[in-house]
Amino acid sequence: MDGFSFSPGGPEEGIEAAVCLLSVRRRILAFTGAGISTESGIPDFRGPDGVWKTVDPAEFTYQRFLNSPETRRRSWQMRAESGILDADPNPAHRALVRLWESGRLTAVVTQNIDGLHQKSGLPQHAVVELHGNAHHATCTDCRARVPTGTVLERVAAGDPDPACLGCGGVLKADVVLFGEPMPVLATDRAMHLAFECDAVISIGSTFGVFPAAYVPIRAIETGAALIIINRGVTELDQLADVLIDAPAGEAVPSLVNALLEVFDQHRK
Ligand SMILES: [Zn+2]
Repeated sequence: MDGFSFSPGGPEEGIEAAVCLLSVRRRILAFTGAGISTESGIPDFRGPDGVWKTVDPAEFTYQRFLNSPETRRRSWQMRAESGILDADPNPAHRALVRLWESGRLTAVVTQNIDGLHQKSGLPQHAVVELHGNAHHATCTDCRARVPTGTVLERVAAGDPDPACLGCGGVLKADVVLFGEPMPVLATDRAMHLAFECDAVISIGSTFGVFPAAYVPIRAIETGAALIIINRGVTELDQLADVLIDAPAGEAVPSLVNALLEVFDQHRK
């Protein structure tokens, strides 16, 4: 595949090139990773200072979680300390809502589990969560679903490994653990959206996690343009039409505002 990479002198030129490319595209898909949420205070678990650099991911596989009370205790503790449930959306999340309202954004496919796209005002059906959502937990036996906040309240009250109140089964947050299969419906829908879109704006992903990274790859293979907004290099830089190396909270609002102006002019 021949990727034409635009190497901008700076983010401003990149945004100009992206607006140019996107202004004639009708079906834009946003693909988001940890980098869109770092400005909301949620650390990138896989980044240079991420938790998986100091904690062995092998300790937190799906099988371990099901079988080891100690793994569950540590897992709930880490979830409580992450502050993820209390985080607020930042300007990048809110800019995507404006793009959605313009009718050009078909959906947001996200690797994030923080629920910040919905908190920023996107309807649930506009968000496809490849790795689940930390705001709810489900009993692995009877499938009863509860807000994670209530589980963490029980942890704080002295129950380090809270069991399902209905059946006593193991409660697990609705997030995909290492070694756990991806949610089938979300994955199917993401691939379908990738097939149908004519441009992908990827925000804050380095594409290091598969199968999630197949979403932009599938889109490119079917002819879509790829705009990458990320701090630093990514695995797909060679395939991108435009690279914008800037914080999401600055680049995404700039891009969306400029794009909406162009859409407005087209309507006149
Ligand atoms: Zn249960």
